[in-house]
Amino acid sequence: MEKIDILSLGLTELENVLTELGEKKFRAKQIFQWLHVKRVTDFDKMTDISVQLRTVLKEKFCINGLFIEKKLESCMDNTVKYLYRLSDGNFVETVLMEYNYGHSICVSTQVGCKMGCRFCASAIAGYVRDLEPSEILMQIYETERDSGVRVSGVVLMGIGEPLDNYENVVRFLSLLSDKNGNNMSLRHVSLSTCGIVPRIYDLAKLRLGVTLCVSLHCPDNEGRSKIMPVNNKYDIDSLITACKDYIDATGRRITFEYAVIDGVNSTDADADKLADLLRGINCHVNLIPVNKVKERNYRTARSGVADFAKRLGKRGINATVRRTLGSDIEAACGQLRRDAAKSSEKNGGADA
Ligand code: SAH
Repeated sequence: MEKIDILSLGLTELENVLTELGEKKFRAKQIFQWLHVKRVTDFDKMTDISVQLRTVLKEKFCINGLFIEKKLESCMDNTVKYLYRLSDGNFVETVLMEYNYGHSICVSTQVGCKMGCRFCASAIAGYVRDLEPSEILMQIYETERDSGVRVSGVVLMGIGEPLDNYENVVRFLSLLSDKNGNNMSLRHVSLSTCGIVPRIYDLAKLRLGVTLCVSLHCPDNEGRSKIMPVNNKYDIDSLITACKDYIDATGRRITFEYAVIDGVNSTDADADKLADLLRGINCHVNLIPVNKVKERNYRTARSGVADFAKRLGKRGINATVRRTLGSDIEAACGQLRRDAAKSSEKNGGADA
């Protein structure tokens, strides 16, 4: 029988499983705190749990761990990029970033991605599987353990499309913010999506308080469909309508992400179209100089981003340019995993 992934269970679920096993309900809270506050990864470290119950726990449950395969530290800022190996041999990336207000962590939500955005390294490497809630959470726990840092913010902007792994991501958010466990306010969490419209409505209904970031990257359907295949399914109109619903339902401002790419979406006319599209919406535009991806020829002129920001500003749209962190450590998301997957393939490893 397959063991239950205990770190993915909410407190109530753990209570139910334990009562079914004939245990007292209060044990669940003790175990939950061992896992999410003291963060042990071995049932034998749960010293106030009887040896007998620990034996049962070991039989029925597993604690999903992940292991540092590679760690790159930037010499320019204190960005650290981790390549984690999962228990089935697959790899994901996690990035720890330092800001003047504290540390923020960027986590992956899938092994690979199905969305196929042209400029993204994760898309080139292909999709393998969704991450379990525990595997998303463990990226934070393991990074905090290794670095000795307590992160103050989480961004779901690593490998994968979070809204394409909706159930597990929502469960992860619930575990992350559980008062009996990690207890992080979801106001310090940002979730980035390429625009899976029905899931934006679902997320709005939950009113979790997370900041929604939407990867827009182009102000018109023709151009957007060329670089983001998801636009063929959910076009800009339907996306903007869903974003307005999210803002109405949650009272939160949305961030639109826009990678400024020469020859693709960086002209004055593009900036004007973008300003027209976003006028009147409670939002902020985050302009991103495109990260180089080996197989693609996309680039951004630094002055191009600044001009684009200025032009948006003049038209009343609040825009900032994203600080480039860790540019000396293979910054484009998904490249480390792809390289590791390739070499493990050569050696007959598990990753696709
Ligand atoms: N799937 C989600 C989150 C992962 S990507 C999404 O699409 O939003 C996080 C952000 O990085 C997205 O805005 C994505 O479009 C952007 N991105 C991906 N590859 C990039 C690259 N090479 N240069 C700049 N931004 C990139």
